[in-house]
Amino acid sequence: TLGRADAEGDAGGAKAAHFVFVPLREQGHLIPAVDTALLLATHGAVCTIVAPPSTAALVRRTVEAAERTGLAVRLAEFPLDYAESGLPEGADTGDSVPAIYMENYYRAMALLRAPVELYLRATAPYPTCVVSDFVHPWTKELAASLGVPRLTFFSMCAFGLLCQHNLERFNAYDGVEDPNEPVVVPGLEKTVVVTRAQAPGFFRGIPIPWWEEFADYVERARAEADGVILNTFLDLEPEYVAAYAAARNMKVWTVGPVATYHQSRTTLASTLASRGLRTSVVDPDECRLWLDGKAPRSVVYVSFGSISQAVPKQAVELGLGLEASGHPFIWVVRNADEYDEATRGFLRELEARVAGRGLVVRGWAPQLLILSHDAVGGFVTHCGWNSTLEAVAAGLPVVTWPHFSDQFLNEKMAVEVLGIGVSVGVTEPLMFQAVQKEIVVGRDVVEAAVRSVMGAGEDAEERRRRARALAAKAQRAAQIGGSSHVSLQDLVKRFTAGPGARGPAA
Ligand code: UDP
Repeated sequence: TLGRADAEGDAGGAKAAHFVFVPLREQGHLIPAVDTALLLATHGAVCTIVAPPSTAALVRRTVEAAERTGLAVRLAEFPLDYAESGLPEGADTGDSVPAIYMENYYRAMALLRAPVELYLRATAPYPTCVVSDFVHPWTKELAASLGVPRLTFFSMCAFGLLCQHNLERFNAYDGVEDPNEPVVVPGLEKTVVVTRAQAPGFFRGIPIPWWEEFADYVERARAEADGVILNTFLDLEPEYVAAYAAARNMKVWTVGPVATYHQSRTTLASTLASRGLRTSVVDPDECRLWLDGKAPRSVVYVSFGSISQAVPKQAVELGLGLEASGHPFIWVVRNADEYDEATRGFLRELEARVAGRGLVVRGWAPQLLILSHDAVGGFVTHCGWNSTLEAVAAGLPVVTWPHFSDQFLNEKMAVEVLGIGVSVGVTEPLMFQAVQKEIVVGRDVVEAAVRSVMGAGEDAEERRRRARALAAKAQRAAQIGGSSHVSLQDLVKRFTAGPGARGPAA
């Protein structure tokens, strides 16, 4: 069923914009892609989200709730070919695909090209645009054989993308042996210093030929795309959006913060809480009640996103640091059941000592709900871009604690560009390292960073003021006439099939 567009008589005719989303199943990719599809649907587009069953399961509730409100969104499921791709059956059903099977997973996704194309050719309305997560370069061939444009999507800031792009384009790491040697990002007005370990580029630096080739294929497909959709907003980083568009020589649509989809509609707490996963482990109403009992802006929220996890020793130091900070806190411990008995015991004892003041959430938390509550005053984050932008939209200063991937660049965005963050000082990736070092941030550092962000000092006030001003800008961007709102309208208008549009195979 196609809902609103059908009712208006657009979907079956020649006038509909039909976006085909091909997301990645990792939450930091999937959640914002689905939110973007839902936002486009609120502007009258038809959106098909193409996904294997394990991915569809993560977003079915969100998509079905949107369908019930009349939006023309649908999930189209395609089983993965486990045998052909070498992906062990079921390896795609956990929190994330195990690193050792990522290569097989990407192969399995690429094998969807033929069945997806067959399905789309038989679909009405005919697709008008493919919106692909940038990690799926095969969608270039899919869009080409359908005869439609292809946009790449990734939830990342333009600042980070531009840094990565310039580092690669100007070969900034050439001759740099030590992965921890500071390198200035070329081509920026601002002096930004990174290391290769912090910003290697997507899929770069893995000493396996398949990944080098894959990284090149991804880069080619990105360079040849017809445009980019970013989950950021123009007023957050106008100079970087413009510079990235110029560097890539392509149109950039900024549509964020896409999480506003949920706030702008009368979304049920239970639906919101299951955003991205089956169900949150805490009752959203209880969570809200707990927060209702706290003073405005007094609670610090701590989460490392959907993939990262503190090692046991780190969990202890983090817990003790939070306790010593004296502030109320909600701490999300994703896979608490994977900890050894001693660490689980530590968590239980900590909870008993801070009863009423600290809440440990073991599993998936209703993050948007928590961040938008008045009682929350700061966010200790791993700097996933979604979390960072959700903090911005909520007007919250952050304690930055990057773990891997683009998180180091996002930290620089929060601390050095936006001026809303205090770093705990992690300078090397904590995960997915060829040689795993144990890096543990001490309790004193945690306590000091939390006190600094939550405290009453002039610097803390300044950060709060800046964060509030950014939240106001984020809100304006999403309102009628705001830059992100206009971008969404423009996308729908531009990718609406007109007379003479390509239809199913002539
Ligand atoms: N998230 C959530 N509950 C959790 C953990 C994460 O709702 O317990 C959401 C969070 O709001 C964000 C996404 O999952 O939208 C995580 O994306 P991000 O880019 O911050 O980090 P990643 O998980 O990709 O490392």
